[in-house]
Amino acid sequence: MSAYCGKYHDELIANAAYLATPGKGILAADESTGTIGKRLAGINVENIEENRRALRELLFCTRGALQYLSGVIFFEETLYQKTADGKPFVLVLKEGGVLPGIKVDKGTVELAGTNGETTTQGHDDLGKRCAKFYEVGARFAKWRAVLKIGPTEPSQLAINENANGLARYAIICQENGLVPIVEPEILIDGPHDINRCAEVSERVFAACYKALNDHHVLLEGSLLKPNMVTPGSDAKKVAPEVVGEYTVRTLLRMVPPAVPGVVFLSGGQSEEEATLNLNAMNKLKGKKPWTLSFSFGRALQRSALNIWAGKKENVEKARAAFLSRCKANSEATLGAHKGDAATEGASESLHVKGYNY
Ligand code: 13P
Repeated sequence: MSAYCGKYHDELIANAAYLATPGKGILAADESTGTIGKRLAGINVENIEENRRALRELLFCTRGALQYLSGVIFFEETLYQKTADGKPFVLVLKEGGVLPGIKVDKGTVELAGTNGETTTQGHDDLGKRCAKFYEVGARFAKWRAVLKIGPTEPSQLAINENANGLARYAIICQENGLVPIVEPEILIDGPHDINRCAEVSERVFAACYKALNDHHVLLEGSLLKPNMVTPGSDAKKVAPEVVGEYTVRTLLRMVPPAVPGVVFLSGGQSEEEATLNLNAMNKLKGKKPWTLSFSFGRALQRSALNIWAGKKENVEKARAAFLSRCKANSEATLGAHKGDAATEGASESLHVKGYNY
């Protein structure tokens, strides 16, 4: 049997192609309640539902921002929330031409017998949850698998287990009408150089596409959300042109051209660094059969969050910062960013060791 050809076949292809529209990208606003709590604690704001809702309203209702986005990823709570005026967020996005997405994984747990490697949970009742989210308006989903680079990591066990988990998730999404974003994040943590990151990324992506094909996933109706190929967080940085070349070379070797888009995570890079690296990839001449775009969390939100600080009077200033990141990253998907978006704090490192989403 070949790839998925059920009732959502055409819709999945159309939605995946839309998500991969050049000039647009994805806002990852799907931080779990625990993770958003850490962000809010950083600006002395209490982690209660109203504050989480207010932050999301600040982002989604920024005038002019939605033109740069094709999708927004929600945490389940947000899928049912509304603006202060009572308009469902799902409708706000719809009116702005943006597809709602949903994080469906349930976080990571340690893989027995490994040196702290993990697998991602959430397959139980996944089909039922996807069907329910589709009903409410979600059209794509995200599942984050996490791998790390160490002297003997990632182990073959972690690579295989996570590739299989992602593939099982992806086909369940497609059977329920959701475009799966396949996210095998290789953490930036460590002193390794860019060659080591490239080598590990090749192994991980190869295993993922083997598993996705074994599970009959319709690649045209899916997206890849990888790390960029960079040196580790404790190694010397390299120029964006070098990150661009290594990343595109790795993808060319491992990601089938049937995949419409590759939407990168920012993984602890500063806002400006993530934009410049994406821009460099898109400036590269040569073969690139997929759209190269963004699905950033921290690198879209950090300046806005800091400026907001939970205060009503800062909302418009925070929105200006968010808009400027959206525009800069939109330009970067076209290789047309001129490096002029540096807002206050945009070059601050956002790296957190062993990051949990
Ligand atoms: P960052 O861009 O903050 O790495 O997050 C993206 C994401 O969705 C991770 O799952």
